[in-house]
Amino acid sequence: MRHDGRALDQLRPFSLEPGFIGSALGSVLVATGRTRVICTASREAKPPGWLTHGGWVTAEYAMLPGAVRPRARREPDGRAKEIQRLIGRSLRAAIDLEKLVGPQGPVALTVDCDVIEADGGTRTAAITGGMVALALALQTLQRDGVLTADPVRALVAAVSVGVCPLDGAEVPMLDLAYTEDSQAIVDCNVVMLERGGLVEIQGTGERGGFDRSTLSRMLDLAESGAASLFAGQRAALEGGGAGRIVSS
Ligand code: UDP
Repeated sequence: MRHDGRALDQLRPFSLEPGFIGSALGSVLVATGRTRVICTASREAKPPGWLTHGGWVTAEYAMLPGAVRPRARREPDGRAKEIQRLIGRSLRAAIDLEKLVGPQGPVALTVDCDVIEADGGTRTAAITGGMVALALALQTLQRDGVLTADPVRALVAAVSVGVCPLDGAEVPMLDLAYTEDSQAIVDCNVVMLERGGLVEIQGTGERGGFDRSTLSRMLDLAESGAASLFAGQRAALEGGGAGRIVSS
């Protein structure tokens, strides 16, 4: 048994609350266990001048100081910069940037992911929630005639997997909470598309690396977890998402 009673292939309780921030074009509160992230998608008034044929999606990531113990510093550090670049790459993999151009020209969106409590898996929650915020913003832009085609190629979602000590053995498991993450022998974040492609795998073997069969087992776990995440994202996006809380 894991510390919280979960099976090895079980996600923490997962929920999406679309429309969490009224001022944003698209927003969601994503929760996986105690890890909670507010994601908003906003349109930039002026797209970057270097865009030639297509729009742009970028991401920012931050943690509230009180989201962790001891308190985190407010200023973005190297970890935050690395994470926000991962989120941006992941979201762009979901989007056909050439369709992010409307009658008035290219559209640039920033997805902000702000962690309000961090208990492991904040970057993966940010990607899964960021995708929902982005898709909701894109729905609004299409409704308003700013975009004429749907730029979403496929939904993107992410989940952590790892190999952690459990009852004297080293065991692959899905969706690590901080107590597991902090003891992990292998720590891996997997970003996937709903139609089946892998977007990015970040895997670290702390002691002596890990072998290909372990990677394969971890990817199986990630794939089964991602299927639930995609189902949650679809449900959250139905009917514009307003006022619905999707949880599993
Ligand atoms: N963490 C922390 N303080 C920090 C950074 C991270 O307590 O300054 C904790 C937090 O619970 C986070 C976990 O360590 O979720 C794992 O951090 P990691 O950098 O692996 O990223 P994450 O798993 O959140 O994507």
